[in-house]
Amino acid sequence: MVEASKEVYSSLRGRFKGDLVRPGDSGYEDARAIWNGMVARTPGLIVRCTDLSDVQSAVRSASETGILTAIRCGGHSLAGFSTCEGGLVIDLSRMRQVTVDPEARRAKIAGGCLLGSIDTATQKAGLVFPSGVVSHTGASGLILGGGTGWLTRRFGLSCDNVEGFNLVTADSSVVRATSKENQDLFWALRGGGGNFGVVTEFEVKLHPLTSLVLAEGLTPEPGIRGLLECWRDFMAEAPIDLKWNIDLRLAPHIRKTPVELRGRPVAGSSLIWTGEAEAGRPYLQRALSLCSPDSMSSRIVPFLTLQTMADSDFPHGRRYYTKSGYFNYLDDSSIDRLLEAVATIPSSETQIELAYLGGAAAQIGADETAFGDRRDPFILNLLANWSEPSADAGNIAWIRGLFNKLRPAMKPGVYINFMSGDEQDRVPEAYHERWDRIVAVKSHYDPNNFFRLNQNVRPRHSRTN
Ligand SMILES: Cc1cc2nc3c(=O)[nH]c(=O)nc-3n(C[C@H](O)[C@H](O)[C@H](O)COP(=O)(O)OP(=O)(O)OC[C@H]3O[C@@H](n4cnc5c(N)ncnc54)[C@H](O)[C@@H]3O)c2cc1C
Repeated sequence: MVEASKEVYSSLRGRFKGDLVRPGDSGYEDARAIWNGMVARTPGLIVRCTDLSDVQSAVRSASETGILTAIRCGGHSLAGFSTCEGGLVIDLSRMRQVTVDPEARRAKIAGGCLLGSIDTATQKAGLVFPSGVVSHTGASGLILGGGTGWLTRRFGLSCDNVEGFNLVTADSSVVRATSKENQDLFWALRGGGGNFGVVTEFEVKLHPLTSLVLAEGLTPEPGIRGLLECWRDFMAEAPIDLKWNIDLRLAPHIRKTPVELRGRPVAGSSLIWTGEAEAGRPYLQRALSLCSPDSMSSRIVPFLTLQTMADSDFPHGRRYYTKSGYFNYLDDSSIDRLLEAVATIPSSETQIELAYLGGAAAQIGADETAFGDRRDPFILNLLANWSEPSADAGNIAWIRGLFNKLRPAMKPGVYINFMSGDEQDRVPEAYHERWDRIVAVKSHYDPNNFFRLNQNVRPRHSRTN
């Protein structure tokens, strides 16, 4: 692998416009770090591309040498796929241009953008692109896997709002995928992750929105069961302007948390209403009536405030482990398991995240995109978050134990962006009835599985692991 990275370095030196960073170079330590501190690897070479031709050069050299290659946008892969040991990292962080066309309500987003760069640019025109909830997340990984966030019910998944992809495939060709060109690839890129090539540009639809109502509150025991039952039934009938997320966790020791709740198991409710404020009031009041009165708040916030308010809850470099799945219905015994679990959470930052999809995301047919599971609206994400390596085993065991207890009530399926690096056996489950189709697209565009550091769809006849 060391030889291969030297070969790639030699072939790129002189003609590559971006940075070539090797172990020992100044800046290498920063360049190799990714968001999940559990995944500390030492690539043999990191190439920071500046444009499409840099990406083509990097892919061509890497394909020729056969070096193990990771693609990185924001470096937020929970599984740690955007780095590798001894291999090559194609880093897109110098490609963060966003071009907004306010009249057409469209934008072109470069392949290295973070969500925050998109939000800042689109809000200047009073427009939004529906994406995720933490602004330092990379847009490419998020969109290619699907992309859920505050606006999913109102405007659909991120991938539902993409009209065109430009990408560099494994043979270093530039390929365009839209509803008219390379339609199978266009289908696969909306939910199929990084399996097909390096996306250098997304063309996306935007929607008008600059502010919304945000309501928050905490429900301690013994009220959590009642809250979950209410949420489960209420969301099935809720208007698409309402998004209500629940986090089960230990209440944080911060000024905002009432003193008597700090450190206690709570359900944190965060709701947004994107419609006319008065029309949302009864819905928000219903939800807040189940929260502790001194923990409640409701206010109109700018969209950019919403998009950055969780940034500091998920800092770079901490240790994270996740497992996820869908429910068609959150039954009483699953609620029992959740209540038992929240009483034994091993880390004060760990969360059980519950969201309800539905709305615009559910309007897209199951076979329209590679992303699946739109019929099972309850999405659960178990996210352990801790700092000390000595606590790895306890945190991972807690997540696995809870997941195994909940699994029998879940529907088959998983959102690939909420999977860990040890779940390769669940990838076919993520695509279930779409599996043969996605394998066919992969086999056509990447027959040698060059793009394999991802939730991998292996091509037919591939010899790689
Ligand atoms: C703090 C945090 C918050 C999150 N919040 C949300 C959320 O609200 N909603 C949600 O849906 N998900 C969320 N996620 C999950 C997120 O969608 C994934 O972690 C996603 O992979 C992050 O994208 P990235 O570009 O930062 O990933 P990276 O680690 O840079 O890349 C991950 C993988 O994506 C592929 N990839 C990246 N860039 C490209 C490209 N240009 N072309 C082709 N393939 C590429 C590669 O396979 C790569 O291995 C969150 C994750 C974190 C860590």
